[in-house]
Amino acid sequence: MLDLLIHNASLPDGRTNMSVAVQNGRIVEVTVGLIAPAHETVDAQGQLLSPPFIDAHFHMDATLSYGMPRANASGTLLEGIAVWGELKPLLTQEALVERAMAYCDWAVAKGLLAIRTHVDVCDPRLLAVDALLEVKRRVAPYIEMQLVAFPQNGVLRGTTGPQEHMDTLKRALDRGVDVVGGIPHFERTMADGALSVKLLCELAAERGLRVDMHCDESDDPHSRHVETLAFETQRLGLQGRVTGSHLSSMHSMDNYYVSKLIPLMAEADLQVVSNPLINITLQGRHDSYPKRRGMTRVPELLAAGINVAFGQDCTMDPWYSLGSGDMLEVAHMGLHVAQMTSQAAIGQCFEAVTRNAARVLGLSDYGLAAGCNADFVLLQAADPMEALRLRATRLRVYRRGKLLAQTPAATSQLHLAGRPESTACRAESIPRF
Ligand SMILES: [Zn+2]
Repeated sequence: MLDLLIHNASLPDGRTNMSVAVQNGRIVEVTVGLIAPAHETVDAQGQLLSPPFIDAHFHMDATLSYGMPRANASGTLLEGIAVWGELKPLLTQEALVERAMAYCDWAVAKGLLAIRTHVDVCDPRLLAVDALLEVKRRVAPYIEMQLVAFPQNGVLRGTTGPQEHMDTLKRALDRGVDVVGGIPHFERTMADGALSVKLLCELAAERGLRVDMHCDESDDPHSRHVETLAFETQRLGLQGRVTGSHLSSMHSMDNYYVSKLIPLMAEADLQVVSNPLINITLQGRHDSYPKRRGMTRVPELLAAGINVAFGQDCTMDPWYSLGSGDMLEVAHMGLHVAQMTSQAAIGQCFEAVTRNAARVLGLSDYGLAAGCNADFVLLQAADPMEALRLRATRLRVYRRGKLLAQTPAATSQLHLAGRPESTACRAESIPRF
């Protein structure tokens, strides 16, 4: 007997009336119309069953700290960094753990089951590192967390000196942080930025780790750290293991230069994470009008065969007062900012918070196929387009075949003479003639 059978489901690739059979935490069969004995049987009623949402870029050490010790009045990146600097000495491990745990509850409710989070490694006490390692251990039964050693103040720029900063970052890796981070555009000079990319990529190569750098998160059209990141990736044989996050400056770069840069990135198999909610709010702040959008060139990168994911980046922290762990909201914003409105492009936006993000994290056995982990989300939508349009309710969230969360369908009761009793704003209710 099967442990779980979901039948009559639609899948993101367009297949309908599909059954997904689960045994021992894994998918054993995905086929049309299978009905078989199971301990738990769910009729999906034609709704969309998707692999879980994955967030390839987050800051869990700062999350849910909005307003502490004060709100970011200007809303800029630099004031956010300043507010975070004021909060850091006041942080306790317990508060960090409890806020992160609360965020992880939200994540599960939204079907978000793997998160790559950066963690600030400028504090020699490594308080945030220890807190997030504890959170990683606690949420392991339901969320896969990856930690990135992120030197927020610049590994060469920080006030205690480059040697001590690098040593602190290495101690974070020794404690179990998974990925090497960086912030080259925040170093003092372009040359220091390039040097930081070189040193950090060498460290990752030495230790056999992946790299994920905040790279060129600015509106400076002359920033060149993506180029250096691609070059170091290739020089050190790290192809496919290096991610450039944000890459906002690419929005403002000269088009001729980008026509050279994108093939270099493709050659290095660089992965890209764009953070639409944050880029659209933090970039272009020095512009009057026209105001730049500041999001990297997502459709052009995808067209070059580069893997692009969308990340949440921030939720209720010094940089962003909104957010809820809803990756459909992230993809919805990405779709608008990048004008990815064709049917194919809308599908790509959905993939940017599912399959593509899983690839950034290097997750194995992810997807809806026999042999994959039985991790999935049943959405109150017929297909990815409707899921994005409605930021659809996550009806049921499963990990390894176990039900983790349920949300009642969103339906409004109507009290209108001669009209239906309820509506869920679904496409299926539209008269077709
Ligand atoms: Zn970030």
